Amino acid sequence: MRDPKRIPRILKLLEKIWLDNPDLRLAQLIVNCRPTVAETCPDLYYLEDDDLITRFEEVYKKEIENLSLKCFKCDKEIFDDTDFLDGTWFDASGNYGSAVFDPIADKGDVTLQIGICDDCMKAHKDKVLRSEYVRGAVWSQERFEPRDENA
Ligand SMILES: [Zn+2]
Repeated sequence: MRDPKRIPRILKLLEKIWLDNPDLRLAQLIVNCRPTVAETCPDLYYLEDDDLITRFEEVYKKEIENLSLKCFKCDKEIFDDTDFLDGTWFDASGNYGSAVFDPIADKGDVTLQIGICDDCMKAHKDKVLRSEYVRGAVWSQERFEPRDENA
């Protein structure tokens, strides 16, 4: 019996690639992964799922790399095919202090996103503020203290 764990893996991969290419039809996404363009679709029918995953990864390498989330500081992978691993994802809409990012000049709803792995967060906790909000306003701020996993 084929491993059922392959199904969510394929679906997550397909979802990521398809969301990055919403104009393609499902059959186009799959047919693009034929072993060679000259071959015909019966080859696709008998293609094992692991081989299909390999083809998806080869054909859509650029899209997958764009979706790869690595730690801003150390380059450790913090997102795999399906889940966030040991890291935190930050989404910034900008402020008036940056000379390199100005979302108003970009004329749209633009954000920058970075991920930081838990190890880097712990190592640089002195540079992280923890803010508590009440009704949309900052209520209190303090230095971030990582949770103790062993507590
Ligand atoms: Zn890191």
